[in-house]
Amino acid sequence: MKCTRNRSIVLTIMALAFLCGICFFIYRFVTSANLWVLSPINKHLSGVNATFGGDILDRNGIVLAHTKDNIRSYNSDGMIRKAVLHTVGDNDSQIATSIQALYRDELSGYNFIFGVNTPKIFKQSKNIQITLDSEICKTALSAIGEYKGAICIYNYKTGEIVCMVSAPTFDPYHPEAVANDKSGKYEGAYINRVISSSFAPGSVFKLVTTAAGLTFIDDTEDKIYSCHQTEIVNGEKITCLSNHGEIKLKNAMMESCNIYFAKLAIDLGKSKMTKIANEMGFNKNFNFDRITTKKSVYDVSEADDYYLGWSGVGQYKDLLNPMHSVILMGAIANSGEAVLPCIIKKNQVNKRVEKLLSKEIADKLKEMMRYNVTANYGDSMFPGLNVCAKTGTAEVGENQKPHGWMVGFSANEDTPLAFSVVVENAGYGSKTAGPIASKVLNLAAKKY
Ligand SMILES: [Zn+2]
Repeated sequence: MKCTRNRSIVLTIMALAFLCGICFFIYRFVTSANLWVLSPINKHLSGVNATFGGDILDRNGIVLAHTKDNIRSYNSDGMIRKAVLHTVGDNDSQIATSIQALYRDELSGYNFIFGVNTPKIFKQSKNIQITLDSEICKTALSAIGEYKGAICIYNYKTGEIVCMVSAPTFDPYHPEAVANDKSGKYEGAYINRVISSSFAPGSVFKLVTTAAGLTFIDDTEDKIYSCHQTEIVNGEKITCLSNHGEIKLKNAMMESCNIYFAKLAIDLGKSKMTKIANEMGFNKNFNFDRITTKKSVYDVSEADDYYLGWSGVGQYKDLLNPMHSVILMGAIANSGEAVLPCIIKKNQVNKRVEKLLSKEIADKLKEMMRYNVTANYGDSMFPGLNVCAKTGTAEVGENQKPHGWMVGFSANEDTPLAFSVVVENAGYGSKTAGPIASKVLNLAAKKY
């Protein structure tokens, strides 16, 4: 009897385990079957004979990717193919954040019941229209030339991304160029730097330090610090490009004085700096249209005053994601409220808004960024666009040229465009990122 009872217990446990297994499988099948079926490993679906099916079109209806007789083809202009590659995707789905990788279900006409072998009468391969303007992307790619970097422009009223270019890039017809590369030219070519990279921001970060100052210190705008080109903190040197002498906030921003913002960050202290950086979108991801951005980083948990000072001028461990920088520009342009970006063109724009700053502080930053352009960079870079901007030059280690940044936006009602340009190992932001931003934004403004 005892033996029979033991057996039935064992059988019951096995039956329960089996049942659990079946339930788990069904759950996984319902939630993930599309991912298994459409995995790039299934070469019959993803290789040269890709059956992505649906077309990908730019905002003006220009075909960027198309399938005929089971062959995936891309735009006939090689520069456009390369400029939009990181958004459209490649046949092997190497670019994880591309439309072809993230929207395989829709493009292939995958159906839960029939899988990919859906009978034609039920099959609905969808075309997908994206918000990019391929001509602007092409201009951006040719402007960045042989440099590595990221260029992004978005409409801060609607959230539509009109330009997103990552370099280095490659021709989707010649993916072997990346695999065979020994020179380092294609290093990181599978990464969309706008979405999935973050870079030392250099002086662009002074906007955050300024926001913290305006929030926590009364009369920050009249606060004077003196810059004698070097400042010894905890026995180590914080350096500035010039000897600015006694200087106030507005001019310190326009001249991009390191010592001013290092001292301001030290006076504010770690917790206030961190609080404002977090509110402005550091240390978090942004999500839109199935895309998740890489986090920007502000971490001074282990910093002493010397490193806290450097963190206030965008060095130390500070990192800025280019897409986040564009969102932040949108927030400053929009009285503190950022419209989150979108890449899929929708008939009705479903705006999602996130508050990153108070209206008062956004307006103050806007005023200072406008002064940067009128007093320093020059309005001739962006004729008639009423641009507010900040450049950055981020040191990235010995024997390497710094990364050059320019971020900003047009304050005009009819050209609500925010931009971010970062050029790796190129030199001063105003000399490297500036001319690229000028070329691309002027074209974008003309078209919209
Ligand atoms: Zn200085």
